[in-house]
Amino acid sequence: MSLIHSTIDLSAPGAHYGHLAIPYSYNLGGWANLQVPIASLRNGPGPTVLLMAGNHGDEYPGQVAILKLWRELRLADVIGHLILVPCLNPPASQAATRLSPLDGKNFNRCFPGNAAGTPSEMLADYLTTVLFPMADVVIDLHTGGRSLSFLPTAHMHLVPDLKQRAAMLAATEAFLLDVAFLYADVAGTGLLPVEAERQGKIVITTELGGGEVVPASVHRQCQRGLRNVLVHCGVLHGELIRRERPARWVQSLDREDYRFAPESGMYESCVDPGEPVVKGQVVGRIHFLERPDRAAAEVVANGEGMLIAGRAPSMVKQGDCVACIAHDVDPYNLPE
Ligand code: CA
Repeated sequence: MSLIHSTIDLSAPGAHYGHLAIPYSYNLGGWANLQVPIASLRNGPGPTVLLMAGNHGDEYPGQVAILKLWRELRLADVIGHLILVPCLNPPASQAATRLSPLDGKNFNRCFPGNAAGTPSEMLADYLTTVLFPMADVVIDLHTGGRSLSFLPTAHMHLVPDLKQRAAMLAATEAFLLDVAFLYADVAGTGLLPVEAERQGKIVITTELGGGEVVPASVHRQCQRGLRNVLVHCGVLHGELIRRERPARWVQSLDREDYRFAPESGMYESCVDPGEPVVKGQVVGRIHFLERPDRAAAEVVANGEGMLIAGRAPSMVKQGDCVACIAHDVDPYNLPE
């Protein structure tokens, strides 16, 4: 049984604004609460959409977009039930970190969660047992964070259920980004979207840029795409924007598509996200300040495709992911 208390009744009609209170202790707060803002706009029959960002604290465009919706949306704009969580991980957002400074956890590796665990594990359990079961659609807005610079994409797992998959492909296209991305979980288990997919939800996720600086164009693409997805899902009144052309679908499902730094050093990006690459092409070089005479170590593309994401900070440690190569795919006509 979850110890998390919602200050608003999520089943009540109307517009309600409050927070989830997660009990925890620290040295100057024996009976402290971590407060996670949550809003519930419930207006008659219709779908239930759970909209979240800040799963990783240092990923800001989704948090900004949901904060704007929090203030802009009126109950009359909603059909059905829209639940807003602008930031799942406020301590990490405030610290500009990926992991929670409270418990050191990567929230996106905490699922299905633990009701008796750390604050991150408790919140994951609350999503798994309370919020996901209420929802038809689960939206989790990401970016590459401080470590990766992503070409702005909406992305998804290729779920085995074909009806669920078709709904997710259509919703991913409705984000209106030029490129859509099929990805693999190369960095562990316990992801939020995997649990929501397991529960049969239509799951919509993004990688909207990354790095410390978020360009205005990325914020605009995020806000426009998000609003259109909500209209597409039928939870928001408004005119659906139709795409001028279908998304270019790419995938990185092979472990070799994810390129890792062979040594620590100073990283030079040789290709920007969105640019084409061929097999063997140098996508980055690692230079060694302590050994100016040493040749740079090269990171090469494993095959033909495009760079979908590259390293954001210049200093790299051995084993950091510095490049992700994506390959064209037609998700509507996959071999069995
Ligand atoms: Ca992320």
